[in-house]
This record gives sequence, C-alpha cells and structure tokens, in this order.
Amino acid sequence: MYNVSELMALSEEPPQQSAAEEPPHRSTPGRAPLWAHVPDAQWDDWRWQLSHRLNSLEELSQLIRLTPEEVAGVRSHHFRVDVTPYFASLIDPDDPNCPIRRQVIPTGHESAAYDGMFVDSLSEDAHSPAPGLVHRYPDRVLMLVTTQCASYCRYCTRSRIVGDSAAQFSRSDYDAQINYIARTPQVRDVLLSGGDPLILPQRILEDLLRRLRAIEHVEVIRIGSRVPAFLPQRITPELVNMLRQFHPLWMNLHFNHAREITPEVATALARLADAGIPLGSQTVLLAGINDSVAVMKELVQRLVRQRVRPYYLYQCDLVEGAGHFRTTVSKGIEIIEGLRGHTSGYAIPTYVVDAPGGGGKIPVMPQYLLSQAPGKVVLRNFEGFITTYHEPNDYTGHTVARPERPQVNREVGQEGIAGLLEGAAHSIKPQGFDEVHRRGRQPAALGEVTWEPIQPELALAAIAHRNGNGNGKERK
Ligand SMILES: *Cc1c(COP(=O)(O)O)cnc(C)c1O
Ligand code: SF4
Repeated sequence: MYNVSELMALSEEPPQQSAAEEPPHRSTPGRAPLWAHVPDAQWDDWRWQLSHRLNSLEELSQLIRLTPEEVAGVRSHHFRVDVTPYFASLIDPDDPNCPIRRQVIPTGHESAAYDGMFVDSLSEDAHSPAPGLVHRYPDRVLMLVTTQCASYCRYCTRSRIVGDSAAQFSRSDYDAQINYIARTPQVRDVLLSGGDPLILPQRILEDLLRRLRAIEHVEVIRIGSRVPAFLPQRITPELVNMLRQFHPLWMNLHFNHAREITPEVATALARLADAGIPLGSQTVLLAGINDSVAVMKELVQRLVRQRVRPYYLYQCDLVEGAGHFRTTVSKGIEIIEGLRGHTSGYAIPTYVVDAPGGGGKIPVMPQYLLSQAPGKVVLRNFEGFITTYHEPNDYTGHTVARPERPQVNREVGQEGIAGLLEGAAHSIKPQGFDEVHRRGRQPAALGEVTWEPIQPELALAAIAHRNGNGNGKERK
C-alpha cells in the first residue's frame, strides 16, 4: 500500500527496517490473525462486524499487547469502548503509539481533569430548540439522530451523549426536530449527525431523509459519518441507492490518518462518489496521532485521490477525557503553513477552533497580509516572496439595490461583523456592557442617553425640533 518514502514519513521506524513489507502479523490482507478463520462473507458483512466489536480487556488483549496505561484506561473508561474487527485489524499490536490504536483504545490519561475542561464544550445543549437539534447558525441546523457509532473515538466531542445505548432518540424526538425545521423557514441546510447516522436502520434513515426532503425550504441535506472509516462494509450498493434519491445530498466524512484509507475504504468512497454525493472530510488535530505536517499532508493527498475534499481540520475540543489529545493552536497553524502552496488547494482544509462556550467554528490561519496603507497591501506567499497589490483609488463598489433572489428567510440577530460592515449596526457589545458603563446611574432618573450615531437627516430634524423650527435644513 505504501511506497518506502511515504512510509518513512509516516512512521518513526528507522529506515533500515524494510517498511514496504506487509506487517508480519497479517495472515490475510487487512485482517488480524485473530479472525483468519472467519469466512470472507462474514468478514465483509457489516452486521457481522458490528456484532463482533471488541470492548473488554479480554477481547482487546487477544489482539494487542496492552500497556499498563491501556489496561487502566479500559478498566476505568467513562466513555464507551467498541472497535470493529475491521478497524482493530489496522492496529499495530506491538506499537503503543500506533495512530490507529490511540484513536480507539483508552488510556488512563482519559480520567485526568484539566483547566478549561467542559462536559458540553460547544454549549450545544443550550442552543437546542428540540431534542438533539442544534440551531447555532442563521441558515442551517445540526440534527443529532442517533447516539450510536460503529466504533468510539476517545476524543469524541459529544461523549456526554454518544455511546449510551439507553439514551436513544425516539420517534417523538424526530417529530419535534422535523417540526422545528418545517416551521423555521430560514433553515436551508440540515446536517444529520450524532452519533453516526449511517448506523441507523436503513428504513429509519430513509424515512428521515424523505421527511426532510418534503420540506420545501430545505435545499441541502448533509450526512456526517465516520462509518466509511470504521465500517466501510456498511457502504453497500443498496445503501448508496437509497441515499442517491435525496439529492442534493452531501456527505462529510471523518479521517484522521492516512492508514485509515485502505482498499475497503477506497471501494466505499468510490461508491459514494459515483452516486454523485460530494464528499468532504473532517479531521481532528490529535497529539501523537496526526500533529505533523508530513502526516497531515499524506492524509489530505490520499483523500483527494479518493475524491474526498478535506473540509475542516478541528482543534481538539475541551471535552472531558480528551485533554491529552490537545495540541497548541500554533501546531495547527504550522500545519496549514506546511500545506498552503505546497500542495493542491483542494487538499487543504480550513483549520478551525470550535469556540468553547458555543460560538461556532472560528477559522485560524497563518498571516499572509503583512501590511497596508491607503492604496496598497503588502502580502507574502508560502515561499516568503513579498509582494504589493495596488488597490484602485477610484473603487466605488457594486451596489445591488434588490438581490435577484431576496433572502426572505434571513435570520435577524446574527448579522455579526458583516452587519457592522453593512451598516446594520454600529457596535457589538458584550453582555452587561451598558450596565457596567452606566456606573450605577439609574436610567429612569436621567433619561436614556444614546451614543449611537443617527442618520444625518434625523439629527437635523431633532435639532430643528429642539429649536422650535419645523424645517431641519434651516439654521438660526
Ligand atoms: C459545524 C456545524 C454546522 C455546519 O457548519 P458549516 O460551517 O456550514 O459546515 C452547523 N451547526 C452546528 C451546530 C455545527 O457545529
Ligand atoms: S464517530 Fe464521531 S460521534 Fe462517534 S465517537 Fe467518533 S467522534 Fe464521536
């Protein structure tokens, strides 16, 4: 699968070891010896994979030489452990730092508390108008449809709800989610997530997709899934034929390391892409797993080769159990610096910090704009070449009096910084700003003073009114 130079970039093995050879523990390609006796028809069946997942110390130690840290992690885990035999076969049984292993096998570090830790670091529960529905952005919603996944990632952002088989979404939860979307016309994009929507029984998923498609203002449906990585066998022609009825349907997948892109995964991705489903991928930046330019470059290039567009690179959230996976933000910036210009633009994700406390995704990148003065900006490229862009001095802008497609369903209240530029508001104040700056003055006693600038005509009219003159244009 790898050529020698690729593998040397990926592994910490000294070059004298012949890296191109199949690892000796594989008795059949892509399958750990533990399952060598399993007939192909079962191995390739996603139901068999799901029902033979590993979760106990006993099962896991049949496959890998567990370290004391891992034994402690499996004994004390707060978040469910389950690994499909397929994904477990990608683990190097002898390497405790194996990037596949670190994603799914807990260690004792998970119980370590740290500064800034949250249970619900993105405040999703506070942005929820219906069970499992998160409406944070003006025109799109996140719809959590299951708590179950094919395997469980140790750094999961939603470990507070994911993995708990007793906490499932019910028919009435789905009804409440769909009712909210149906009566909220600004929602033009619905993102199904969880848990993993592709773990749902096919008829339930189909029913949800059909009900969403019946809502006229829902333009785009997206599915977020890690099933293609954990359980590529689930991407059957039947499933894909069901999904393709609901176009425009996009999928956003989740890959963290090039070793996850196996021949099985390539087949699954090709089926989805051939069904016309645009594929994106998100990656979580994880210490010891993919926090290097070389590892990340290999991953994004392999994804593009499989027709998957890297979409987001996430800074690890401040979630319980994930403290030891955090990197500095500067590591993410270094990775983007190492990608932009050095490889295809298509292969470069947007690096984001999902705002702790619920502000949504905030993009972060190296600084390319070095300086500016009226008429000029100074920019640098990836090689360090510094250039000047001369801005026009007669630019007046293109004003569209009425957009061709009026945003009738535009949400009010989230105009943000773009709203300041448009002139919809003059400032954005933190909570409590006015109270602090009143310094105890009672607004009722003195009357409310407004410092907001008002329209010039209104200001003139107000002056004229004060001066007892009906015509604001005349001065005394
Ligand atoms: C990530 C996310 C979305 C989708 O955001 P895009 O930037 O449009 O991909 C929507 N809602 C919530 C709550 C999210 O976290
Ligand atoms: S697949 Fe997604 S939801 Fe499931 S455990 Fe991994 S990160 Fe969490």
